[in-house]
Amino acid sequence: MKVCKFGGSSLANATQLNKVIDIVLADPSRRIVVVSAPGKRYSGDTKVTDLLIELASTAQKGENTDRQFGAVVERYAEIAQELKLGDEIVREIEHDLMERLAEVASLAPAEFMDLMKASGEDNNAKLVARAFEARGKRARYASPRETGLVLKGEFGDATLDPASYATLSRAFSNFDGIVVYPGFFGYTKEGKVATFPRGGSDITGSILAAAVCADVYENFTDVDSVYPVDPRIVPEVKDGIATMTYREMRELAYAGFGVFNDDAVIPAVRARIPINIRNTNHPSEPGTMIQQSRRVVPGTVVGIAAADGFCNIVVEKYLMNRAIGFGRKLLQILEEEGISYDHMPSGVDLQCVVVKGLYLTKEKERTVLQRIKRELDPDYVVIEHDLTILMVVGEGMCYTAGMFAKACLALASAGINISMVNQGSSEVSFMIAIRSKDRDTAVRALYKAFFG
Ligand code: ASP
Repeated sequence: MKVCKFGGSSLANATQLNKVIDIVLADPSRRIVVVSAPGKRYSGDTKVTDLLIELASTAQKGENTDRQFGAVVERYAEIAQELKLGDEIVREIEHDLMERLAEVASLAPAEFMDLMKASGEDNNAKLVARAFEARGKRARYASPRETGLVLKGEFGDATLDPASYATLSRAFSNFDGIVVYPGFFGYTKEGKVATFPRGGSDITGSILAAAVCADVYENFTDVDSVYPVDPRIVPEVKDGIATMTYREMRELAYAGFGVFNDDAVIPAVRARIPINIRNTNHPSEPGTMIQQSRRVVPGTVVGIAAADGFCNIVVEKYLMNRAIGFGRKLLQILEEEGISYDHMPSGVDLQCVVVKGLYLTKEKERTVLQRIKRELDPDYVVIEHDLTILMVVGEGMCYTAGMFAKACLALASAGINISMVNQGSSEVSFMIAIRSKDRDTAVRALYKAFFG
């Protein structure tokens, strides 16, 4: 059985929705269809979820909501009309929205916001189920409430209650035929609607794939595959990645591969369900398969990524290597200041801590520097800004000599100075920090060296 998730761009209008139905009907093992709310029809358009957020905040301010209400209903009405689904479904959606809006005074603001946001996927799932019927195929809408998708934590940023897996698995074993399921939300133990973070339909798909032990989790989006390098930096890149491992995906996603959200796929990864990223607009393309292991060609890399916005805290102190507890004290300062760190390369008398720039406001930076000077008495401390981390990733690099040399040579030939390097003992990737101004040149040089 396959669980397929379709994102907002795949459901933005009637033409797209028909493609989705064709895709599902082309393979009888596509049994569970997770849907997002309708997304952008063209660049500059507004996603239904964003329209709903505007509608909810207007209601919370006690202002007239007619315009925002109309804009949301209009998106569904347009699809229903083009697919000749009749007026009934549009009236149902209108009624549902009105009932939700009526809760504005009785719910806490975050709860009300989630109730409104969730309607985007909920009503779309109902509409998509009708669209299957209009094509003569039976499809059943199933709700997170009846199947037991229980969430905990904060509204708008909820996480799964793991006890849900057993309930979901039981619920789905009772269904046959195609099930259309709304992504992005579930219910708290108290029965309130709660949503995952934005983009959370990917999480729902991943949870369901794990719960039913799917053979594959197909995530349909609007790209043919994951590319080994950002096509905006290297436009000539043609071949996508056919297969990659979970580890490779994680490393590339860390450094900014934006096609998928690595947090979202955690349930599928833990359950070892292969994930297939595919394109709704080119369904014959096999896409990228992400799985536990793959055949690797020694000496090859799978992708090159670059993430901007890093800072490096450099601390030097003569005889640091003999000072017991120096590293712990340094990290403790960061912990107490609420700063998470990413990497910690070191030298004989030198310790660096690489952190994301977003943690270091001007004021935080001052405090951190003052505390390091006061509490660690270093010879020298400085914070370097505007660093980019380049990641060269591939299981095929393990046990192959010369991979790092190749990268250094490529960067040196392009006249780029390396600020810092880091390689974990797993050898599945290495990391090179450079000045952000050199990013594009560096990525192109590495691409040429490893793929050119
Ligand atoms: N519709 C929600 C959003 O725009 C969730 C999703 O599409 O995955 O964030």
